[in-house]
Amino acid sequence: MEEILLNNEICFNDTENVKIHAPISLNPTPFSSKAFHRATELQPAFNLLVLRTIQNSTLLHSICQQLSKSDQFISKLFQIYQNSLPVPRLFFNVNRSDYMVEGDSIYQIELNTISASLAGLSTKLSELQAIRFPQDPIPENGASYRIGESFNEAIKLYNTEFKTTSSILFIVQENERNVFDQQILINSISNSTTITIIKKTLANPQMFSLDSKSKALFVDNQEIGLVYFRAGYSPEEYKSQLFWDSRAILESSRAIKCPDIASHLAGLKKVQQVLTDPETLLQTMQNDKDLTDNLSSSFAGIYSLDATEEGEMNCEMALNDPERFVLKPQREGGGNNTYGLQVQSRLQELTPIERSAYILMDRIRPNVTKASIIRNSIISEISAVSELGIYGIILARNDQIILNKSAGYLLRTKPEESDEGGVVSGFSVLDIPALQ
Ligand code: ADP
Ligand code: MG
Repeated sequence: MEEILLNNEICFNDTENVKIHAPISLNPTPFSSKAFHRATELQPAFNLLVLRTIQNSTLLHSICQQLSKSDQFISKLFQIYQNSLPVPRLFFNVNRSDYMVEGDSIYQIELNTISASLAGLSTKLSELQAIRFPQDPIPENGASYRIGESFNEAIKLYNTEFKTTSSILFIVQENERNVFDQQILINSISNSTTITIIKKTLANPQMFSLDSKSKALFVDNQEIGLVYFRAGYSPEEYKSQLFWDSRAILESSRAIKCPDIASHLAGLKKVQQVLTDPETLLQTMQNDKDLTDNLSSSFAGIYSLDATEEGEMNCEMALNDPERFVLKPQREGGGNNTYGLQVQSRLQELTPIERSAYILMDRIRPNVTKASIIRNSIISEISAVSELGIYGIILARNDQIILNKSAGYLLRTKPEESDEGGVVSGFSVLDIPALQ
């Protein structure tokens, strides 16, 4: 099997930069058809929620201001946000909304608005498994193709808007491990056109030059129409002020950012919590009651830990029954959450100001299945739970929505007893649903 995975480039690099097969589930996993279709149908509403959230700058501003008091990383992002207002007129994003399923009911785990990865590997795996298991009801995926097409649409929009020809810039991590996933996406972008794609890290701001008048961005003497961030979402990546300088230059350019800094902030877990308040959600969705009801039907209980009476009560609730909750800081990329009894000790360590930069979430107890997985060439049998991610693409010019679609899926499966969920970080494996 590992040979097949290596030949199909369903791979990433290990920490020594050696190509290894991605961990997968050998067989498609039975998955609720109802839940799958529900999550797919919901995605355009979540894409729109991101746009509406960045348009509600008062809300974003007040949330970030509060978080900035105890979270240095958010404070730095917020500074760039404040310098970049108003919201740019060309808006494009690739989101991924992640869910766990209890019975047939979906519960959103989080909405990723930056660096929603694995669409490439997931597309390849779904194609492979459809050949290996022709009888299984495997849904069509196509995530990398649809995302690739949307990149072309975004570049077309930029070129028309500014009457120019431009290239795409991928911002990647130093020692990037997920190169194969990115390459699949790059291949699907250049399948249909001859757009140049340049890869850079944030390490050297001198790579990026701005035309002082037009704010056009140039890299390697090419104008950039779209900056796609596959990096820049965690504090460790910003090794010096230079990285921050790069982010600020990119943000202040007229290039389309996927995501722009406001959309990055709109994906914060604190924003997710604040939007579970029905009034706030309705107001943010500009009083669209149907969409609001649709969105909130997928929400799990999420509670504020602000330094307020309500926050105190929620904290008490978690101290009395820690197994019921997950405690989350404003971080991405896995390994940051606290579960079970540790919720108690963590909450007791935090000052009220520090605590307000966390949220508390009901712990979902997803359906359990059996799975045979292969990781580092070793096969094992596990009792497993899965997390479904639905990709979404949205392109808009001011308030005119040009494209708003659901764009394929990712299924990650992990041992029932494992708390976290990343694939590259080693918690879970790539999987494909067999709809029941
Ligand atoms: P990150 O930004 O680090 O990906 P997530 O909110 O997605 O943060 O949490 C990481 C992992 O923790 C998820 O992939 C999931 O496996 C698990 N998890 C998160 N929230 C919950 C929850 N409410 N109930 C059960 N498991 C959860
Ligand atoms: Mg996640």
